[in-house]
Amino acid sequence: MDVVELEALLVSQRFQPFHARQTYRWIHRRGVTDPSEMTDLPLALRTRLRAEVAITTPDVIRDETSVDGTRKLMLGLADGRMIESVFIPDTPAMTFCVSTQVGCAMGCGFCLTGQMGLVRHLTAGEIVGQVRVLAALTGMLERPFNIVLMGMGEPLHNYDNTMKALRILNSEHGLAVSPRRVTLSTVGIVPALDRLAHEPLMPNLAVSLHATTDEQRTALVPPNRKYPLADILDACRRFPLKKRSRITFEYVMLAGVNDSAEDARRLARLLHGLKAKVNLIPLNPAPGIPFERPSDVRVDRFAQILADRHLTVSVRKSRGRDIRAACGQLIVEGGTRKTAAQQMAQLIR
Ligand code: SAH
Ligand code: SF4
Repeated sequence: MDVVELEALLVSQRFQPFHARQTYRWIHRRGVTDPSEMTDLPLALRTRLRAEVAITTPDVIRDETSVDGTRKLMLGLADGRMIESVFIPDTPAMTFCVSTQVGCAMGCGFCLTGQMGLVRHLTAGEIVGQVRVLAALTGMLERPFNIVLMGMGEPLHNYDNTMKALRILNSEHGLAVSPRRVTLSTVGIVPALDRLAHEPLMPNLAVSLHATTDEQRTALVPPNRKYPLADILDACRRFPLKKRSRITFEYVMLAGVNDSAEDARRLARLLHGLKAKVNLIPLNPAPGIPFERPSDVRVDRFAQILADRHLTVSVRKSRGRDIRAACGQLIVEGGTRKTAAQQMAQLIR
């Protein structure tokens, strides 16, 4: 529930609306979910909340820390489904990478989450719940952090719950996370991008491009069949950017597939005239992923070609690879679909 919904609920039960804001502070800012501990609420309200309202928080099933400080949580949801969320320290900000779905329907060929297929959307409460758990565990409830919607799932495929989560996170009675601190990463679902362009709480936008021709992109990112490159880039051109802000274009680099000098030149041409920056992500390989990571030399050459054409380029340093917390490595056993190679990898692990 957002604060307005909680207010309406309390008012319908003849409680004062400001108790909603107090309740919100307990849950979101202080991490208290047991109503009997919410000492500034009237006793009658505490009793009713305990008896009639479920305040659920994802359970930490597994908590692993990488040698580089990245921390990956496996979280159990109320229905027993599981998701992963990641804390990435000092990038230079503190960043939480959160999921928006259990699995993902988009089926990108290099992504383990994509191989699970979509199990279900997350609710707004489950998206926010990951942030509450991460902030509490890392001692960040009172400190500023960034959020990237780059965990499991395609946020624009779960549009309403994702936007509601941003509203809840933004609430001044909760964690008060400014949308400027949030980055939404998407494969580019064009109608949803156009809808996003009119949102009052506008996150930063990252678009997963990964290829420079429709043929190549459709092979890697199947939704490209419906929303081809030109349509996505047009939607990006229409996107209302604030002063000095830019769209990030993510490009997973796959050895011998999309990492040639010709690809780099085509990419620069495609992005011409856009307020863009490019984030190159050398593939994080995994069993069952039929691609390889290019050499650093090849990645650097690609980056140089873009930089020579006046594009801002960064190469994403993979964090947490030793605990499979890096991009594209989030997967929870027991997904709906598994390839033969994955099953084999599991057997021989
Ligand atoms: N569904 C959204 C957000 C989650 S994926 C999207 O695709 O944008 C976040 C980023 O991780 C995407 O840019 C995605 O392409 C990248 N990624 C997926 N699998 C990867 C892998 N195996 N190695 C490196 N990056 C990967
Ligand atoms: Fe889904 Fe993103 Fe993975 Fe593609 S890269 S399958 S859109 S999570």
